[in-house]
Amino acid sequence: MEFEKIYETLGISREVYEAGRRMEEMLRPRFQEFDKTAEYNQLKVLHAMQKNKVSEGCFQASSGYGYNDLGRDTLENVYADVFHTESALVRPQITCGTHALALALSANLRPGDELLSPVGKPYDTLEEVIGIRPSKGSLKEYGITYRQVELLEDGFFDYPAIERAVGGNTKLVTIQRSKGYQTRPSYSVEKIGELIAFVKKIKPDVICMVDNCYGEFVEPVEPSDVGADMVVGSLIKNPGGGLAPIGGYVAGRADLIENCAYRLTSPGLGKEVGASLGVMQSFYQGFFLAPTVTASALKGAVFAANLYERLGYAVVPNGQESRHDIIQAVTLGSAEGVIAFCKGVQAAAPIDSYVMPEPWAMPGYDSDVIMAAGAFVQGSSIELSADAPVKEPYAVYFQGGLTWPSAKLGILKSLQYLVDAGVVSKGKLGKI
Ligand SMILES: *Cc1c(COP(=O)(O)O)cnc(C)c1O
Repeated sequence: MEFEKIYETLGISREVYEAGRRMEEMLRPRFQEFDKTAEYNQLKVLHAMQKNKVSEGCFQASSGYGYNDLGRDTLENVYADVFHTESALVRPQITCGTHALALALSANLRPGDELLSPVGKPYDTLEEVIGIRPSKGSLKEYGITYRQVELLEDGFFDYPAIERAVGGNTKLVTIQRSKGYQTRPSYSVEKIGELIAFVKKIKPDVICMVDNCYGEFVEPVEPSDVGADMVVGSLIKNPGGGLAPIGGYVAGRADLIENCAYRLTSPGLGKEVGASLGVMQSFYQGFFLAPTVTASALKGAVFAANLYERLGYAVVPNGQESRHDIIQAVTLGSAEGVIAFCKGVQAAAPIDSYVMPEPWAMPGYDSDVIMAAGAFVQGSSIELSADAPVKEPYAVYFQGGLTWPSAKLGILKSLQYLVDAGVVSKGKLGKI
């Protein structure tokens, strides 16, 4: 096979192609680990589908109230079995990850209750949900208080402070698995399990919820295997496998999921209503593909981490660290660097490869931001995507990749653009 030639057709020079080839060779053992995790998780999903007798009839679209929607109800049982929970709510009516998290919180907290985050500041969009930043309809407006325990210097848990923070009103503890766009580490399922055990020892009836966004299928176990009462996530990230066009899920204890269903639709109606329209096949097929899609994204993240680390850039997580989510940060140190990187990722996409992203002012950001996304599903971040605020320290965050070869092309193309822009010298490529 004439790899050099086909890569050349796609705008990758021989030097960049060769650097990538050598890197991939070195990463074989890591890639094998990801494949093993994918194999295990694939079998979990397959077993759940077989156990619940998924049939062609499950793909039928329901409309109107959506009573007796076999596909919807069966899919929720499949999710519950994969996450080893009593119940699950998996719906196209849950519009995104933030909505799923807001739902799980507002459904299970009542006026006078306190919400506790023992892992520092939550994901940006949750600040308005909770009312850390004032917002209409926040939990705060409903008389739900919030407390946060800051992380230790190393990014891990301040157990004595957590013990002091758990009080009589503490009803729900929220734990974010992925670092998101912060600098702290993402947590392994094992570490999350230790934290949950600690909290439950202090207060056994406290509800432990995990924001599972970007974490699904990265490990052979999920937070619900180590004591989480609810796990919450978005279907345009890992569990949608790139095929779900919308959606979110909450899986967990039956009474908590029932509260979520009552909150999502209406008291009294709960899970019984909610037409699936035509999305069920993509939900099933995406969930079926999700373990291998997640492995592809992980390969892309580790490939980029090692490639850019060898070129002398700071990367988080570093090339050797074990992975607990699919996000990779690379500090390129200059505006030209992050702009070239994002342009390269965009140029490698299956969709909109011919458009050039430019830095632009965005609501909620205090600097221009450049974003690269050439996705089948708008905003999907299980598909290869990158973004960077154009300001110090000039770090680009990227994630996703539906297949390993497409993730690889995206990363090689980012490097090609950096070489062409004169940010990375050809001589440096020889060091890989
Ligand atoms: C993406 C994400 C969310 C929010 O999901 P949206 O679909 O963007 O609303 C929340 N928490 C974490 C850790 C995330 O990565």
